[in-house]
Amino acid sequence: MPSKVVRLSGRIQHILNEGPRVKRFFITVPEKLSFSAGQSVALSIPNLCDARGPIKRMFSIVSIPEKTELEFCIAITPPPSFSSSIAELPVGSEVIIEGPFGIFTLKESKPLLTSAFEVSKTANEFHVQPQLQALQLPSFIAAGTGIAPIMCMIRTLACEGKKGLHLLYGFRTTEDFLYKEELEKYAAANVIFLTTSASRLENTHIKENIKPAESTTPSIAKIGRITQYLNTIKNIGQQVYICGPPEMVKDTVAELLETGFTKEQITREQW
Ligand SMILES: Cc1cc2nc3c(=O)[nH]c(=O)nc-3n(C[C@H](O)[C@H](O)[C@H](O)COP(=O)(O)OP(=O)(O)OC[C@H]3O[C@@H](n4cnc5c(N)ncnc54)[C@H](O)[C@@H]3O)c2cc1C
Repeated sequence: MPSKVVRLSGRIQHILNEGPRVKRFFITVPEKLSFSAGQSVALSIPNLCDARGPIKRMFSIVSIPEKTELEFCIAITPPPSFSSSIAELPVGSEVIIEGPFGIFTLKESKPLLTSAFEVSKTANEFHVQPQLQALQLPSFIAAGTGIAPIMCMIRTLACEGKKGLHLLYGFRTTEDFLYKEELEKYAAANVIFLTTSASRLENTHIKENIKPAESTTPSIAKIGRITQYLNTIKNIGQQVYICGPPEMVKDTVAELLETGFTKEQITREQW
């Protein structure tokens, strides 16, 4: 059942720097917002208007649905912009939240069919039964702030005790590795298999003083574009969730389809 769209008045609780161009916003709301992991809301600031009326921008919810404090991860663009206006607000300021919106949400996991079939014999009949094992766990591919809705999905699945999710995450330089500490904790606890890639070769290379071939641990990004590392996402019939800039999403979907994934396996969001 889709959640009802509501309008809430929130207050900024605190703002954290999460990289050179990105901030995390924690906004308390008077009542719990009902939404599904991966959905987004429209944020607006009282009295911030243009000729068309109140200025609103969509942002994915990073916090899990059970919380009364909503978290957002927002790339700050230079003023004049909505993101720079919200970043300048003092703690305690009012923010209007409308939502939830969107269909970038987790689909039900299907059982994983393993060693094809089990054959058993009773009397003179053979019975062929599919071997049901674990559920097919989803895989995730994110770039930049595209990690926001995926973070919410991973947190939600982690709370349900799921382990062994695959995450391929791309950013510009290692400084832009959002939620690094939390993702590395999930990787250490086997909640996720984490592969990261940094597209700005020069910066990462010099900063980390590593050669591309040596960059194999999750905390040290591989060098290059996400599409170079799609082989880390093996096709076992699972759902794949992709979020990032339009170009990245387009290229990633095209490559996945070429390697045998079906359209039905792919759910995407882009901005
Ligand atoms: C479903 C969905 C989910 C999203 N989730 C996220 C998320 O989790 N995190 C995230 O960071 N983004 C997210 N986005 C993108 C977000 O909604 C904004 O589009 C994005 O943040 C850019 O907004 P802004 O406020 O930075 O810039 P805007 O205010 O949209 O401005 C865009 C550009 O125009 C320029 N500009 C603006 N106003 C003027 C003016 N008056 N005169 C001259 N130039 C001007 C600005 O300098 C800026 O570079 C999401 C989008 C969608 C559709």
